[in-house]
Amino acid sequence: MKNKARNKVDFGHFRCKMVAMYQTLSFYKYVRLADPVATREELFSFFQGIGAVGRIYVASEGINAQMSVPKENFTRFDEFMKSKVEFADVPYKFAVEEFTDRPAFKKLIVKVKKKIVADGLDDSSFDVTKTGEYLTAKELNEYLDDENAVVVDMRNSYESEVGHFENAVLPDVDTFREELQVAPELLKIHKNKKVALYCTGGIRCEKASAWLRHNGFKDVKHLKGGIIDYKHQVEKEGLENRFRGKNFVFDERLGERIGNDIISYCHLCSKEKSDTHYHCKNQVCHVLFIGCDGCVEKKAGYCSVACKIFDILPEGYKKTHARFQNRFFRPAQFKKNLLKPKIVIS
Ligand SMILES: [Zn+2]
Ligand SMILES: [Zn+2]
Repeated sequence: MKNKARNKVDFGHFRCKMVAMYQTLSFYKYVRLADPVATREELFSFFQGIGAVGRIYVASEGINAQMSVPKENFTRFDEFMKSKVEFADVPYKFAVEEFTDRPAFKKLIVKVKKKIVADGLDDSSFDVTKTGEYLTAKELNEYLDDENAVVVDMRNSYESEVGHFENAVLPDVDTFREELQVAPELLKIHKNKKVALYCTGGIRCEKASAWLRHNGFKDVKHLKGGIIDYKHQVEKEGLENRFRGKNFVFDERLGERIGNDIISYCHLCSKEKSDTHYHCKNQVCHVLFIGCDGCVEKKAGYCSVACKIFDILPEGYKKTHARFQNRFFRPAQFKKNLLKPKIVIS
């Protein structure tokens, strides 16, 4: 379905009434929405009115949202959500750094989608409601020490590269769709173990746990609220933090720190440790890479010298040679992986 009703509101639009603080949160819910287009219109108009920005997807199967809401309007936002039967009990997951003076998103985008997470599955081919039970942070920690259990990262490789749970299985995939395709085969050797899945905020594991159960895995559970909520539980309950590194997030921040250690390396020099992601400044390339301070400064925010040169060429030339540039000038380390992550999931 092509969605024409997609609007974008530039952040600049609100600049005249800029508020001091923003609260960043995400939420999702699988719930039957009778008229996603009408829901979209209503949400857009209300969120726009309170100066919220973010990325919200609605579908007949539910809602998936990542947002920054002006702190002073948070109560209004919450009251609005609670007034909707479908969303009244939706749990919010607040960012590690909950309040910031800049929003984590530039625009407000509310889109009608076929699904709230692109999983490539035919939902009529299995029982999507047979999701696994939830695990708390404490229970996940116990799984990590249990030799009869396996913990699986359901995110993409560019996410787990900068941060993941100790000893977790980290599938080498670029998309969630790919992850679901390879997971049953990859985890076959663990079929008789207790399986624990985790992702950023929990939404991917809802579908993934049902999918694995459908594929014959008997004991599949998943981390409630994902890594985001794990961090909150660890702090609240004084648990040991078993997450190493950074939690990749799909907004302007590109990551939030969970553990103090840096576990990944710069993609440009492969020598310096770094877990800071950048998008290549050449919009035609836009590849997502990890860069160390030295390399990013030397290459002025581009992934390569080729991109730096390409970017100063006349606009018309760039347009006609865009495809050519991507194919031939992209540095070897990015050739395999034409990663331009679509910022779609929580
Ligand atoms: Zn480097
Ligand atoms: Zn580039």
